[in-house]
Amino acid sequence: MTDIPRRGLLLVMSSPSGAGKTTLSRRLLASDSNITMSVSVTTRAPRPGEVDGKDYHFISHEEFGRLRDRGDLLEYAEVFGNFYGTPKRPVVEALQAGRDVLFDIDWQGTQQLGATMEEDLVRIFILPPSAEELRDRLIGRAQDSASTVAKRMAKAADEISHWPEYDYVIVNEDIDLANAEIEAILRAERLKRRRRVGLSEFVRRLTKGL
Ligand code: 5GP
Repeated sequence: MTDIPRRGLLLVMSSPSGAGKTTLSRRLLASDSNITMSVSVTTRAPRPGEVDGKDYHFISHEEFGRLRDRGDLLEYAEVFGNFYGTPKRPVVEALQAGRDVLFDIDWQGTQQLGATMEEDLVRIFILPPSAEELRDRLIGRAQDSASTVAKRMAKAADEISHWPEYDYVIVNEDIDLANAEIEAILRAERLKRRRRVGLSEFVRRLTKGL
């Protein structure tokens, strides 16, 4: 098979909590070996079942401040009173190696990535099919207290208001369909001419033989 070298891309998935973003990310990571998850740092406490170094790097406020001040974070934001940020180095290394990186970050982080890495960025916003469905999913998750659920519902409208800043919007009514749509986006984005840095060389050789 003709393998034309390409630059990696940054795939951002944002949504209000409970829209199914975590499930969709896991599916994509399991089915596609060329994309890796960016593991964020956060000052929030781990939820039951969350693994340090896998779901997040759980760090103190002091450590967060140090990373931010040293310029080690590609972007960062405060969400629900906690700080979240993306470590820079793993992302830069992946891009150079032609691997793609998946981000589960909010609209604030997406805007910051857009300011510095627009060319490499693909933004997907995930919407729940209805307000009732979002509430049910948040309650069903049972990982958060009732007051946190109420806070997240109130924040959802705020988060959703940023949908026009994204390249693609997916309504997650059926998880299989949403997953297929994300895979289709990724397949097409990988084929974009500007990412395929090996095209010039390929065409040069091709035309030489004509
Ligand atoms: P949670 O506490 O539910 O894991 O995440 C809360 C929100 O923070 C989600 O909207 C998630 O996308 C966002 N988030 C997680 N990590 C980061 C990060 O590194 N940067 C930014 N900007 N947002 C993040």
